[in-house]
Order: sequence, then structure tokens, then C-alpha cells
Amino acid sequence: MSAKQKLYWHIEINGIVQGVGFRPFVYRIARQMNLPGTVRNNSAGVEIQVCGSNDDINVFCERIRTEAPRVSRIETLTATITAPCNLPESFTIDASHGTAPPLTSISPDLAICHECLQEMFDPRNRRYLYPFITCTHCGPRYTIMANIPYDRPNTSMAAFAMCDDCRQEYTDPVDRRYHAQPVSCFHCGPTLRVLNQQSQCLATQTDAVRLAAREILQGNVIAVKGLGGFHLLCDATNHRAVESLRERKHRYGKPLAVMFRDREHLLSYSPCDETALQLLESHRAPIVLLERLPHSRHRPLSELVAPGVPTLGVFLAYTPLHRLLLHLVNRPVVATSANISDEPIITNVHDLYARLSGGFAFALDHDRPILNGCDDSVMTFAGTRPLMLRSGRGYAPVSFPLEHSFRQHVLATGPQQKVTIALGIEDQLVVSPHIGDLESPESLQFFSETRKTLCRLYQSEPERLQHDLHPRYMTTQWALQQGVHCHGVQHHHAHALAVMMEHGLHEPALAFVWDGTGYGTDNTLWGAETLLLHGASCERLYTIHPLRLLGGEAAVREPRRIALACLLQMYGPDALRTCRHHPALRSYSDAELQILLSAWQKGVNAPLSTSVGRLFDAVASLCGICQKADYEGQTGLLLEALFDPSVPYPPLVSLPAAGHRIDYRELFNYILLGSDVRQSVSVFFRALVHTIEQISQQHPQLPVICTGGVFQNRVLVKLLDEYFQCSGQRLYMPVVLPPNDASIAAGQAYAALLSS
Ligand SMILES: [Zn+2]
Ligand SMILES: [Zn+2]
Repeated sequence: MSAKQKLYWHIEINGIVQGVGFRPFVYRIARQMNLPGTVRNNSAGVEIQVCGSNDDINVFCERIRTEAPRVSRIETLTATITAPCNLPESFTIDASHGTAPPLTSISPDLAICHECLQEMFDPRNRRYLYPFITCTHCGPRYTIMANIPYDRPNTSMAAFAMCDDCRQEYTDPVDRRYHAQPVSCFHCGPTLRVLNQQSQCLATQTDAVRLAAREILQGNVIAVKGLGGFHLLCDATNHRAVESLRERKHRYGKPLAVMFRDREHLLSYSPCDETALQLLESHRAPIVLLERLPHSRHRPLSELVAPGVPTLGVFLAYTPLHRLLLHLVNRPVVATSANISDEPIITNVHDLYARLSGGFAFALDHDRPILNGCDDSVMTFAGTRPLMLRSGRGYAPVSFPLEHSFRQHVLATGPQQKVTIALGIEDQLVVSPHIGDLESPESLQFFSETRKTLCRLYQSEPERLQHDLHPRYMTTQWALQQGVHCHGVQHHHAHALAVMMEHGLHEPALAFVWDGTGYGTDNTLWGAETLLLHGASCERLYTIHPLRLLGGEAAVREPRRIALACLLQMYGPDALRTCRHHPALRSYSDAELQILLSAWQKGVNAPLSTSVGRLFDAVASLCGICQKADYEGQTGLLLEALFDPSVPYPPLVSLPAAGHRIDYRELFNYILLGSDVRQSVSVFFRALVHTIEQISQQHPQLPVICTGGVFQNRVLVKLLDEYFQCSGQRLYMPVVLPPNDASIAAGQAYAALLSS
């Protein structure tokens, strides 16, 4: 066969290749290279029939790989020679069709692209100031999808008939809007409107944006419909406005995210390096937690935005609507999910008025339905390492290609907090966007909706359910009621498996899984686990001496209860007398202390827990930094700010000579006697890292995994990275998945693959 001989080829491409301008892209290359053939969507991705020589097709495939649209992701590309067939003389695009089982990845929503942004602010463009401008490179995807394949009739744009101009763009293969499903304009697209408290319409389209901007500048809280749900917006520089937003949302201490118009605007408030800026400006456009500038050149942000913490969660206006609004407001705005405390994000105006009545002065609404709710993603950096804290808009749903296939369709239901769900289908593992804490009827409803959506989009009818071992988790109870084969996976084992899945790690590994709480195989609460992983099996090498959670759940919200348990464990009942004036005990009355002592002695409503998360609480309380927490993870954030790298570490924690319980009492004694808070906090961080170092050195040949909510701590992760870079031992941490409980479902699903 000569290299120049014309052959017929079938090319299959899988990954995120639908709804991202992939077919027009293939079309342009084929036309440039004068290759006859066709391209079309199928339910597995994109398929190409093309005629050309070996050399031609090599170049063609290479160009597809290297020049693919920025927002696409090619997972596999296979080219095979087929029998000669009739192909159109010049390359064409076939309308999409789907018959085979769907395995294409669903594209997450995409932030407004550079071209659309320019058009939106160009007075000569027909979409000048159009709040729903979009193209194949940007705009809504997952949140408007009712079904697959991703075609307009299967989206919430189905109700909007295209005008002639839009249809012209939509059907022109070389246009940027070719088959851009949400394409529309002022004549044919959704209508924006401002509603007052009585839900009467006061203005529409551009006038609506102007009115909303004016109200924000006057200090009002506005509900704004975004991609994945409603936000509450207010002027971040207006103290009274931020205070009012916090009251309405019943959210008092937890930091709020701030949205900026663009990079210049942001740079005047936060020292942001180029890596973070690129992430903020990317099509994923997450919220990123950054160091705060002490003083801004502009109007300072209200102290109530992020009280007492060294970081600020920032993001850039990522939809055309937000961009128009911030252009007019010209100030940073607080932008937080419209919900009451930790309930799921509200996606329609009916729920907005029903559940958040009085929570906002005006609503900026539109009539393009959000079919699938999706929160903003949140990331941070530990040194140079990006850490995912919440995976939502722009990132999820996310699918991981695997080397082996699931025998059955698997659904993993996740834990109880920061829940996501995962599907195992053939050689893919799909993880949903953030669902949240399953502690209200609304969040259970959202769990159920997300599950149905994911199963529909991936046409999966789960034959096997994977769940947590905790008998009281709603996700466990739900799984056990379904009458489908169920399998429980230990919480920390699932954490570690998620990392192995993400990195394709198949060898034995040493895993440090440290978090707040997870149900252990001995029916106690774990959270300081060192595990030895070998395929599907797992051995618990080390944990710590348990502490009693005085008052059960209440102890998780009150670090002083943990500190008290710590003092009782070290000194016995005498601690109540000798430490009576310690900050941790000062706020208790004598009677309260007697009740807690009795709970500790009898073990009533005082379950045993081995959790590194609780050690952070104990240190924060013993150092007088925080006695009652406003939100989960607060103590870790507060301790971060006090770390001083110059403090030397006097080794205070050694591994047990026998047994598997690491004793931190000497460390706590040191902290209790210390007078310098920075020194105590710094020594605590060093002690944690030293523990990991000592255990890792016992297994120098094994790769090391660090995961669990504790590893969201930027100081801890930075110290670990420094250590492992020196030692040369391989360190694996979650990348696309968060280290917290949002990765549990992925690990649960992966356990099904390993055990089959
Ligand atoms: Zn665009
Ligand atoms: Zn139109």
C-alpha cells in the first residue's frame, strides 16, 4: 500500500465534543485539506467518514488533536480503515443523530467568551447589550439540558423559535454559532425582567439591567438569575447592604464571595498572580479563595464580607448578564447562592418567592428555564497547588475515563454532607455537581432531581448501589430502600479510592485520610486514618487516641467542648478546677461543667471520635481563638492565618511502639502551657506534618495519598508539598475532585469496579 493511496476511514472521537463547536472545527480542517467526507454527532461523541491517504489522515488527526476548540476535551480518537463508500465530494456536516448507548461526556456550562464579550459591547453589533449572547464556545450547557443528544429540542431553549438572522448563523457551518443550541437575539430569545416584592414586572431587557444596577448602588439586595440558579447580589462596599443580606440569608459568620467586573477591577482589591487570574478568566470561571489586600485603592469592602479570615473568595462576572450588570454598578458585589443557609440553590422564580420571601428587594429574572441547578465551583491554591473545594458550574458533571469497565451500571449515593453522586457506566465514572448537605426536605429533593437527571442524560438504570456505612445517613437509607443490590463502602476507604481512581493508581499505596467524621467499621466515628491500600482491600495502620464529643453533634459546632474533652482526657476530672480560668472553660457556668463532666464519665451523648478535624477545633479553643464556630472548617481557616514558618519544631508526637493509636497529649500539654499563640499554632501544624513524615518513612517504596477535608488547609498542604518534594516519595492528592466529602461518591463507585 503506497502512502499516497486513497483510503476510506472511520474516525471516532469521544470526550467533551458536543455543544462545543467540534463539528464546524472538523469541517474547517477537512475543507482546508480538501478531504471529502462527513462529520456527525452520535451518542458516543463525534464520528467522521473521510477519504484520504495515510499521510493525509495522520495530519488530519494530528490537527484535530492539537487545534481542538479550547472548551472541548478529547478522551479517545480512533481511526480505522473501512470499505469504500459514497462520500460527498466536498466535506459536509450531518445533522446529529443518536442510536447507540450514550457515552458522550456532558459539557458543563461555560463562561462568556472573549468574542461574545466584544460583540456585546459593540454598538454596531445586532447583539449590542444582549444579556443572553452566546456561541459554541460559551454559555449554558448542563443547566439547560433535558435530554441527550445535546440539540435544541432537548434543551430549555426549545420553546424559543429562532428568527431568520439567528437561524442563518445556526445553520452556517463556518459561523461561530453553527449549532450553538442556546443561540438567540433580542428578537427571538428569552426576556429579562425586573420584579418587585409583589412580583410585578417593572422593566424588561436593557432597562431591567439598568434598574437592577441602580438598586444595587442604592444598597438593596437583588436576586439575579444566573446559569445554575439565583444569586443574591449587593454592593460589597456597603456595610449596611451586606449586613442586610446576611440577615436575610440567615448566614452570619461564613465568608461571602465577591464578584468583580474583570481582572483590572479585581487587581485593585486582591494581589492575584497570573495563575489565579487565568483560572478566574477561564471558561470554567470558579470562585477562587485568594489572599486579601489590607487596603484597596478603591472603596474598601465591608468587614462583614469575610470577617476574621485572611482570604477572600472572588470570581469574575461570567455570564453576559452579570457582565452588563457589573459594568453599570462598577463596584464589587457580594454574590451568593440564593437559599437559606445550606439549602440547595433556588432555580426558579416561583421557589424564590416561596422560600426567600422578603430576602431581596427586587428580582432580575428571565424566562429561559434552568433545568438542572448547579452551584458555583470554589477553588483555592496551597502554594502553587490548586485545590478544588466545591465542584459545580464549569467543572461538573465530570467524567473520568477508566482502564477497565464496570460489569453493571453503578450508582454511588455519597455521604451526608457535601454530597455528590457518581455513576459507573462501562469504562466511565461520572460525578455530579455539588448537591450539598442532606439535612432538609429541599436538599433531599435536589438529591433526587440530580440523580434522575444524571441517569437520564447517561441513560443509566443502576443495577448496583454503593453507599456509606453510616446507618443514619439519608443516602444510606435511600439506597437500602431501592430493592437493588447494595454495597456499603467505609467512608475513609472511599476517600482514598477516589484519589487512586483520579490518578489511575493501581499499585499498593499509603493513604492519610483526615477529616471531620466518617463511620468506622467498629461503629465509632473515624477521621484520623492512615490506611494501607491494596487493590480493593484496605488495612487501618494508625489512628489517634479518641476524644469524646461532649453533646454529640453540638461538639462539632463548639470547639470549647472538644478542648474540654481534651483537658479531661489529659488531667481527669481535676481539670475542671485546675483549668477553670482557661479560655476554653471560662464561658461555662459551674453547673454546665458538671453536666459535661458527667456526660464524659458515663459516655452518655458523648460518642468517641478519632478526628484530625476535631484536633484543629481543640487547638483553636485552647489558644483562645474560637470557642463557638459559625461554620464548618472555620477553625482551620483561622489557624492558617496564625502560622509562622520561622517557629522551630520541638518533636512532640512520636509513633506508638505498640498498637495503632498516635498520642497527641504531649502536644496539647505544650499548647496549654504556651503563651504565644502563633508559636502554638505553628507547632501544631508541624506536628501534623511530622506524623505524616514518620509514617511515610516506614514505607519509602509506597506512593502516598493525602485526602479528606483536613487537606483543604492551605498551610498543611503547602508544608506537605515541601516535604515530599525533598523526600522524593510520590504524593497524590485529589485534583478535579475536592479532598472533602464531595469525592466520597467517586470512591464508592470505584470500589464496585475493583471488587467485581
Ligand atoms: Zn461566545
Ligand atoms: Zn434571533
